[in-house]
Amino acid sequence: MEKNNAVVYARVSTDEQAIKGYSIENQERQALDYIKRKGYNLVNLYKEDYSAKDFANRPEWKKLMNYLNSNKGKVQSVIISKWDRFSRNLLGTLEMTKILGKMGITVECIDQPIDYDNPDALISFAISAAMAEAENRKISLRTTAGMRQASLNGCWVGKPPLGYQRDWVIKGTVKKNATLKPDSNSIIVEKIFQYFTIHNLSADSIRNKIYCEYRRKISKQGVLDILKNVCYVGNVKIKKYKSEPEIIVKGYHLPIISDELFQEAQQIMIGKKRMHIRKDNREAFPLKEIIRCSVCGLSFTASITTKNKGLKKYPYYHCSKTKGHDRYPVQVVHDCFGRVLKQFKVKDEILNLYSAMVVDTINSHNKEVLAEKRKIEQDLEKVRGRIKNAEDLLADGLENKEVCLSMLKRFRDEEDMLIMKHATLKSEAMPKVGDVEYLLALFNSFDVLYSLSDYPLKKKIVSSIFPKPVIFSKDHFRTEQVSPLLELLILNSNNLQGLKIEKSHFKSGSSSSAPPAGLEPATL
Ligand SMILES: [Zn+2]
Repeated sequence: MEKNNAVVYARVSTDEQAIKGYSIENQERQALDYIKRKGYNLVNLYKEDYSAKDFANRPEWKKLMNYLNSNKGKVQSVIISKWDRFSRNLLGTLEMTKILGKMGITVECIDQPIDYDNPDALISFAISAAMAEAENRKISLRTTAGMRQASLNGCWVGKPPLGYQRDWVIKGTVKKNATLKPDSNSIIVEKIFQYFTIHNLSADSIRNKIYCEYRRKISKQGVLDILKNVCYVGNVKIKKYKSEPEIIVKGYHLPIISDELFQEAQQIMIGKKRMHIRKDNREAFPLKEIIRCSVCGLSFTASITTKNKGLKKYPYYHCSKTKGHDRYPVQVVHDCFGRVLKQFKVKDEILNLYSAMVVDTINSHNKEVLAEKRKIEQDLEKVRGRIKNAEDLLADGLENKEVCLSMLKRFRDEEDMLIMKHATLKSEAMPKVGDVEYLLALFNSFDVLYSLSDYPLKKKIVSSIFPKPVIFSKDHFRTEQVSPLLELLILNSNNLQGLKIEKSHFKSGSSSSAPPAGLEPATL
């Protein structure tokens, strides 16, 4: 009788590598023993360390099948060590043994042999295969439960998201918990959040910018997913599982994004098509909440609409309540306000008085500084005399050396301190009388002064000019009264282009009564 030709198929999935008895080498040794015992002829050996579940995705299995197909009738046995090495899927196992059976090939399992001549063999075989599948399901259940438990503890079990790489919480010398640590891509995540919240960019233009700056391709949805991902504030989200609801726990990993920034991004995403102005760019809208709608008298708010994929921005002030009411481009309102400010001319007598006061202040300040400098110079002279003394004593060797040295050190420290004080006073920018002219010039160009001011000061200037509600319509502001102080300071406060002072039909605050057309001549 001719010898049986056999091929050996050994397989291990990556996570089983370490488990004793499962190793490829072990399976190989077992198979070679078996072949020897049976007196078979080994024709080929395939070692698979790829863990794909179905046969079609196993590279070594594909090679084995190619070999069997091109050597039809020459191979009689495929040797495996356990059924679960073959497949953990019952149907897959049955199908594959059937295919091989048709080719006249028997799958011989060393640990769980099946007597194919026995009528009960199929049942026995089915049980073995079913057990492999049951084990497979148990493993995946265990994995799911285990991963869920790890996540609940704050571990990160999945693929690291952009901006993070894998890391471990180390306890002693043991890698204890899987977690994340920020990597070099965390800057991209930061940028995405900043572009979205501070710069008001759309997901699409953020995607483009990230590609231009970092050559990193992210889809529009990818950008939105990043903006929603709680892992960036150091949390772990555990998905709903059976009856257990979705929960978010504090993770082991460090956040990349501050809670404030993240919350802001969430606010914007919650169905707000029109992005309202936030802290960081409110500076562009100093007149917001001060000027009011001419239709209903409610204060204006400000918005930015973006067009052309976020490349063009249109900032505008508009009625805070009703859509069809007043709405003006920010530039139109600001230009008009600038024209009004430009007309503010400070009365000569006030200017002179102010100028005298400023010069006086500068002079007395300079006098103080000068006096302080002189005092420091005197102290320096004194301490230098002491240093000289101590050095002489040390050189003569008449006094205790230790005492001399410690004295010397103290004096030198004192000297250093005085020199530093002197230098600070020197470098302190002292206003010169010449600067006053510039300052006064500014007071005669309110528009420049205003444009140089920061946001809080702008707000202050505006509200000190307008103590009563102001309405903007078309090309002018309307208010009942300007600040009495302003009337004292400037010329012609009630004869300014672009500013009409008239009795308002609105009560201060809000009113829904119809307003005047705003075209009638200004009255006082
Ligand atoms: Zn309105």
